[in-house]
This record gives sequence, structure tokens and C-alpha cells, in this order.
Amino acid sequence: MTTPYQREKETALRAVASASHLLKGIQNDLKRSIQKEDRTPVTVADYGSQAVICKIIRDAFPEDPIVAEEDSKELSKPEHAEILSQVAHYVSASTPRISPREVCQWIDLGSGSISVRYWTLDPIDGTKGFLRGDQYAIALALIEQGTVMVGALACPNITLGTQGTKKGQGALFVAIRGQGAAQLDMSGGSPSEILVSTVSSPPEALLTESLEPAHSDHQLNLELARKLGIRQPPLRMDSQAKYAILARGEASIYIRIPSPQTPRYREKIWDHAAGSILVEEAGGRVTDALGQGLDFRCGKILENNYGITVTNGRLHETVVRALGSLLP
Ligand code: AMP
Ligand code: MG
Repeated sequence: MTTPYQREKETALRAVASASHLLKGIQNDLKRSIQKEDRTPVTVADYGSQAVICKIIRDAFPEDPIVAEEDSKELSKPEHAEILSQVAHYVSASTPRISPREVCQWIDLGSGSISVRYWTLDPIDGTKGFLRGDQYAIALALIEQGTVMVGALACPNITLGTQGTKKGQGALFVAIRGQGAAQLDMSGGSPSEILVSTVSSPPEALLTESLEPAHSDHQLNLELARKLGIRQPPLRMDSQAKYAILARGEASIYIRIPSPQTPRYREKIWDHAAGSILVEEAGGRVTDALGQGLDFRCGKILENNYGITVTNGRLHETVVRALGSLLP
């Protein structure tokens, strides 16, 4: 008897690994280019990654809608023909002679609607990290009846060991509901089970947060750390790589409260679906800032949730309580 969701897991891993390959190619070319402020590479990368992943999912699961971050509306405008041809160039490495029109069609496979069963995709999470050559992730998840059942995360610049933000050869992460979480090398080999940390005393916890101050309230996290007596400074990194390092026990707390610059911001499903199942299956807990479970049924935005609290589980109640006394 085969275990459930094996085919979904294998397909998701193959999809994020293929996209990683494409993105690494763009990043290598980026190193050679001199215009550091140019955002074109990340635009090309975003579209290229989405095209490749949507095509793989559609071929394997033709009935499943995909809800992804991008669509081809802007890209197909005549003034963006040069960008589109660059996207087609990178995609053609895996699919020779693909036309720009087909690339747009593949991208738009990601314009599906939230259904009883759907995939959600962030083709590049942490675009700032991607441009800097730091951490970024490709995040893909399958959701059924509002519950994330499978999650796959590629972190092409992470270390395979446990060395925080230090740059490495990259790793893939995968989880199936009820079957645990694993880390693999970038070619999908050497799978090993991952587990959250066993830290139960808040002062020993390492807290991770966004590098980008506009994406979460750093000041609030500082106050939380003081209240909990946390001794180490926060580990700041881009993307859902934060979920990955928490899932493998390197960090024990990840907090994301809207920054005072955007107090009404609500989180997007593709920024949390894959990361959250990874942490839960590694033994941790993921809720919003108030301790409520994440509700993936309401649309592209987690409308029913405020902020995100992720811990190794043992620290969850303590962190949610401490956070409650500090929230605006
Ligand atoms: P991070 O790498 O943790 O800083 O998160 C990157 C993600 O932040 C992006 O994929 C965006 O979807 C999301 N984002 C964009 N604007 C905001 C905002 N004002 N507050 C929180 N997250 C945001
Ligand atoms: Mg994102």
C-alpha cells in the first residue's frame, strides 16, 4: 500500500527543484551584471519560476486549481516584450523552443480560485534576499478543506547544516500532514527527518524575524524578547527560510506582527502555507498573534488572522501570552 500524498509530494519537490535551477541560473547572470538597482532580474525570475512550477503541477494534477502570486497581464503588454523574451529564454533551458505566448499561458495556470482542494505558490518569496544574493525561497503547498496537506520549500542559498543565515549550497524541505517533515539536498537526495528544538526556557530561545523592517514590527519583537528574557539578538533573514530553520531546530520563535508603517496589512496564503506545515510536522506550532489557527479558506489573504506566531511548540503558550500583553 502506498502512503497517501506521495505523488503530490514527489511532484511538489520536483517543481520547486526545477524552479530553483532556473533561479540559480538567473542569480549567476546577476552576479555578472553591474546594474545592482535594476529589478528586472527578479521580475524575470518570478515569472519564470511560476511558469515552470504551474506547468509541472498542471501536467500531474490537471483538475487542481493553482493560486499563485503572479499573472501575465503586465508581462504580455507590448512594452514588456523584452522582459517576456528573457523569461522565455530561461524557461527554454528545460523546454526548448517554448514561445512567449506559451510562457504566458503557463504563468496564468496560477490564476485559479480557492477551492476544496487547491495549490498555492510563491514563485520567489523574499525577492529582496534574491536580489542581494541572500536567502529566498520557492514555496508550494497543497490545501484541502482549509488544511495544508503537503508543503514543499526550496531554499537555494541555505546551508544544509545548522549555521543560520550563512550562505550554503541550498536545501529542499518537504512535509505531508501526519507524516513528518524532512530536509533534502538540492537534487532531492539524502532525505533526513527534521525536528524543532527542545528549548523550553524562553531565555535560551533564538527569535527569528524578517530582515525587512517594513514587513514586521521589530520594536515589538524587541519588547517581547525583553519580556521573555531572551539573551541572543534576533536572527534576521528574508523569506520562508525562517520557517525552515525553525523546523530544523535552529530557531525557536518566529514572530510577524504588522509593522507600524502598514498596521492594516494582512498576510498572504502563499507566504505561510508551505512554511507552516513544515514547522507543524517537525513538532512545532503555528498560529496568529492571538493564538488562533491560520484559516486558509477565506481567499488569498488570511483575513481572519492577525500576525503570525511560530514556535517549537513548548514555548507557544508562553509566547502568545507575552505577546498579548504587548500588542497595539
Ligand atoms: P520576508 O522575507 O519575511 O520579509 O517576507 C516577504 C513577504 O512579505 C513577501 O512575499 C510579501 O508578500 C510580504 N509583504 C509585503 N508587504 C508586507 C507588509 N507590509 N507586511 C508584511 N509582509 C509584507
Ligand atoms: Mg512571498
